[in-house]
This record gives sequence, C-alpha cells and structure tokens, in this order.
Amino acid sequence: MSATILDGKALARQIRQRLREQVAQWVQRHGVRPCLAAVLVGEDPASHVYVGKKQQACAQVGLESRLIELPQHTSPSQLLECLDELNADPGVHGILVQLPLPEQLNPDEVFERMDPRKDVDGFHPENVGRLVQGRPRFVPCTPGGIRALLDHYGISTQGRHVVVLGRSPIVGKPLANLLLARGPQGDATVTVCHSRSAHLTQLAKQADILVAAVGRPRFVGPDMVRPGAVVIDVGITRTQQGLVGDVDFPAVAQVASYITPVPGGVGPLTVAMLLQNTFQAAQALVQDGNS
Ligand code: NAP
Repeated sequence: MSATILDGKALARQIRQRLREQVAQWVQRHGVRPCLAAVLVGEDPASHVYVGKKQQACAQVGLESRLIELPQHTSPSQLLECLDELNADPGVHGILVQLPLPEQLNPDEVFERMDPRKDVDGFHPENVGRLVQGRPRFVPCTPGGIRALLDHYGISTQGRHVVVLGRSPIVGKPLANLLLARGPQGDATVTVCHSRSAHLTQLAKQADILVAAVGRPRFVGPDMVRPGAVVIDVGITRTQQGLVGDVDFPAVAQVASYITPVPGGVGPLTVAMLLQNTFQAAQALVQDGNS
C-alpha cells in the first residue's frame, strides 16, 4: 500500500478534547450548558445506533443531550409541533432530526420548521442559502468533517479539481458549495456527479481530490483514480462483513496518495462537527440573549 491513511478517528479525538476544554470554560463563565436535542422517529435500528453515538459524544465533551423518541406513525403535524416546542425552549441550543424519516414525513418541511439558529445540521433553507452565498452559519457536519481532515493533513483545495460522486443535500451538494467558496478553505474547481452522469470513470479520473458519497459498496476501483489523487470515502454500508465504504480500499490505496478508511475516516469527524456546531449555536444564542 502506498497511500497515507487520513485518520479521522484520531483527528476527531483531538477535536473533542479541545472542545471539552472550551465547553468547560464557557459553562463556568455563562452558567449555561449547551444542549443538543435529538429527535428520533420510528424504529430504524441504524438510526438508533447513530443517535446513541451522538448522545455519547455529547456527554464526552460536556454537552447536555436530550432524546425525543416518536413512534413510526407520527403525523407531520405532531412532528412539527415537537419542533415548535424545541424551538421555543431556551434550554435547547441545537436540534437534530435523525434521517431517514418515515415516508409520511417530508424532510424539507421538517427542516424548514426548525429555528435556523438551532439547525446544527445546516439543512434549513436559510442555512443552505448562506452556505451557497459563501457565508455559512453552520457547515453541514459531513462536509465540515471532510474540510477539517483536509486541513489537518495540509491538503489544499485551492486551484485543484475536486470530483464529488453524489449530489445529496447532506453530503454532495453542501461539500461542493463549501469547496467552491472563495478563499483558502475553498477555491476548488468542483465537478459533481450523480446516477445520470455520463463518462463517470473519465470524470473521476480527472480528480486531484475524489470524494465518493454514493452509498454503493466498493463502487470506486483503481480504474477511477488518477495516480497520486486524494480519495475521500464517505460511504457507509452495513454488510455481513461489517461497515463497507464506497471505495475498494486495498486496491485504491495502491494508486492514491492519501485515502480515508471506513470505518475511522469521515464518520467520526461528522459527529465531532455536530458537537462543534452545537457549541457554536449555544454561544450565538446566549450572546443574543435567547437562552
Ligand atoms: P443519497 O442521498 O442516497 O445520495 C447518493 C448519491 O449518489 C445520489 O446523488 C445518487 O445520484 C448518487 N449515485 C447513486 N448511484 C450512483 C451511481 N451508480 N453513479 C453515480 N452516482 C450515483 O446518499 P447520502 O445521504 O449522500 O449518503 C451517501 C453515502 O454516504 C451512504 O453510504 C451514507 O451512509 C454515507 N454517509 C456517511 C456519512 C458519514 O458520516 N461518513 C454521512 C452521511 C452519509 P442521484 O441523485 O441521481 O440519485
């Protein structure tokens, strides 16, 4: 293997440690403990695992967390009512609605109802708009985690061609906007591909930095990677062999310069960014006298 591993787990640990100190000092000064409310609708086992991990991570850095569990058959008005309560609660600084939602619930409607100042996932239209304008309030957690990883390893995006496989509102689109922004944190030339893209392999092979977020195990093989490219694997699929990424790791590691593992790459950073955004939300709300 020739590629250097981008160790997201180790970096997430460092971020959490720094955050724990910052949170402790801030709580002492303001007498308020930042609180993340997680709304979990239905019985999806993976969602229960993810929310549990996020709550555990909150506890590790000294953030309070609340869990609101709603049944599978929750109606749109019930969920919106729950959000209204959390929006109005001065003890709640960040709100997370775990996806996917049951089919009767429209995620767009749900995120639109959230107080954008508490929307720590960055999915409210106002926060999406701010990101597109290059003045984000909350950077969505997975793109923020990728940015943190690139920064940590000194991998610049300025003037480089980033090819993102996947155009979801959670990963592909916000990442593209983040890296397209003016300035040292962005300045990339970004190509976004999806299931209707023609000549995918040729496009991927042009990338200096290739990001795979399609949700298809081992979708990216060495034929799609330019020798020396940086490869970021966002994909997580549960298989009988455990968690599998979108990249054929052993084969691609032979050609890439840097590569993220799955697990232990982007995943832990996504959680670390959620904690950071929650702390940031609490700071802003307290400063504005809303908490
Ligand atoms: P998603 O909403 O299902 O989006 C997948 C994207 O991939 C879509 O844009 C889709 O195109 C595209 N795609 C699917 N098949 C393709 C193909 N054959 N060729 C080219 N593009 C294709 O998924 P997501 O929420 O972005 O998540 C993607 C993966 O990342 C999943 O495995 C998920 O579990 C993982 N994930 C990981 C983290 C983390 O923290 N590590 C966070 C979020 C998600 P269309 O738009 O045309 O359908």
